[in-house]
Amino acid sequence: MKLVTFAVGGREAVGLVAPDDEAGVLDLAPVVGERSLLEVIENWDRLGPRIAEARDLRRVERPTLRAPMPTPRRDLFAVGKNYREHVAEFGRSGYDTPQRSEDVPDKPIVFSKATTSVTGPYDDIEAHRSVTSELDYEAELAVIIGRGGRGISRDEAMRHVWGYTIVDDVTARDVQRDHKQWLLGKSLDTHAPMGPWAVTADEIPDLDALEVSSTVNGEPRQKAPVADLIFDVPELIRVISAGMTLLPGDVIATGTPAGVGIGFDPPRFLGPGDVVECAITGLGAIRNTVR
Ligand code: MG
Repeated sequence: MKLVTFAVGGREAVGLVAPDDEAGVLDLAPVVGERSLLEVIENWDRLGPRIAEARDLRRVERPTLRAPMPTPRRDLFAVGKNYREHVAEFGRSGYDTPQRSEDVPDKPIVFSKATTSVTGPYDDIEAHRSVTSELDYEAELAVIIGRGGRGISRDEAMRHVWGYTIVDDVTARDVQRDHKQWLLGKSLDTHAPMGPWAVTADEIPDLDALEVSSTVNGEPRQKAPVADLIFDVPELIRVISAGMTLLPGDVIATGTPAGVGIGFDPPRFLGPGDVVECAITGLGAIRNTVR
């Protein structure tokens, strides 16, 4: 199933992408009431089967898609330097501080993006010209946690995955570099476009086969299979949950492949008017314009 959060006429609600038409959104209110997607995921054991069995749902006229979780329950988890060629381009760029390195990390680098950075799949990315002059894009597979837990083993990890979505881990490179710790450079408002759908894990039988890609103004920039992840999804869940409880609805952006703006010499940063599209096989595409 592909679920969305949509807005129409001042109402925000959870919808189901029509099985026979990806452009169609069916209103799930008869099944889930006024619950948010986060609340639907928290009650998935009960609501999932009811959604799967629902018939004669009303089609929503002209819905505006929001991020699947417009306000996540807490900051997004994100992973740095998790594709080999991106590790190399980041190391070469000189933006990797304080320990500049082209070596593959021996443990996952986990940071966070503020909830307030989340924006919709087709919304604008604010340029924040007073804060940054080095805006960059990062197409990423994001995991949505279903069942929470602590001390989750690799073997158990995939049972805790509810589904997947796409996140553009938009980054202010100068802020990321200058403040050493990445939170500020990763968390400017609108710098986590997400969506277009939240896709349940059962729709993705072979995660490794998915391909992550991005374009800027139609020009191909990034392209890599999820199989290229240095630390795969079970390992990320194992590491993050080792001493911290993962919660239903938690989002983990798993890292970005090579081809970001700082990978070019000279770097190719984003500016107003640029259109960034991030796509993943089976998960759709998000498209955002810098303003
Ligand atoms: Mg990233």
